[in-house]
Amino acid sequence: MRLRLRWFSHAEDRLEAWLTQRHQERVLEGGSTPAGPCPDEAFLKDLARKSKQIALSDPRVNHAANCPTCMKRLLALRPAYQSRRRRLVLTAAAVCCCLIIVTFVVLARRGAETPHQVANVAAIPQTVDLWNAGTLRNGQPIPLQSVTLPAALVKVTIILPRYSEPGQYAVAVTRDQTGNDLLAQSSATATGDGNREEISVDLDLRKSKPGPYFLSTTHEQDQASYYYPLQIR
Ligand SMILES: [Zn+2]
Repeated sequence: MRLRLRWFSHAEDRLEAWLTQRHQERVLEGGSTPAGPCPDEAFLKDLARKSKQIALSDPRVNHAANCPTCMKRLLALRPAYQSRRRRLVLTAAAVCCCLIIVTFVVLARRGAETPHQVANVAAIPQTVDLWNAGTLRNGQPIPLQSVTLPAALVKVTIILPRYSEPGQYAVAVTRDQTGNDLLAQSSATATGDGNREEISVDLDLRKSKPGPYFLSTTHEQDQASYYYPLQIR
């Protein structure tokens, strides 16, 4: 439908252009009799640039359309205005392009800022006390009170079980106690007085669904992992 309309309008334009050309040829050959005197140059210039101030009922329009002298002048003036209009169109297009580019740059910057802002989301402080937790190494955890953490960005301070060694620890949240299906991981150096050690890590649990998981701690030197039942709520 749209194509057909465009085709019609294109055909109409061509017909109009053809009729205009025939009329111009007839006028230029002196085949018409203009009424009244020739209008001044300013009027012809206005007419050439299709000024909206000119009323088509103005007798000078009728004269210019039928006078070979005025017609010649109009035909000479038209290209200048057309190229000027083309320049204006090109300038407008360039301005549009610049605006689009600026918009993209602003949006890209805003997009780049977003993760930064997300990173600034305050982590919820949580304390996990494993002081009295007795576990079997790399094996079945001895039943102990389940640790509960929210499905959020958490800053967990873990009080390590008694007799824990100082040093670097890796902390992970996994689906099972073999270390598979890792949800979050972080590492930190234990701080303590040699008696009671604790580590503080950020864990991003925002994408975790509530349910049972495991929290593991792995000492960097002996590489032994301890798993504790974890409940994400
Ligand atoms: Zn004239």
